[in-house]
Amino acid sequence: MPLSHSLHAHCPICGNLALQRISPECVESLSAWVWRFLRIPAFRCVPCRHKYFSILPLYEPRDREVEVASGD
Ligand SMILES: [Zn+2]
Repeated sequence: MPLSHSLHAHCPICGNLALQRISPECVESLSAWVWRFLRIPAFRCVPCRHKYFSILPLYEPRDREVEVASGD
């Protein structure tokens, strides 16, 4: 897995990056209330149906080249 992928939310089970953003109420875990309280976004992995919280940003594949020029 490329380093850049580890900087984005990915499934801890299968490494899938194409996660679905879901409502925090959908995640059933003992610590879910903590994440909800901290307003951490929840994600769902479609292939393995794993639901979890991640503070990492969702990976968005670039379908178009966006050049961010740091011009003064
Ligand atoms: Zn998965």
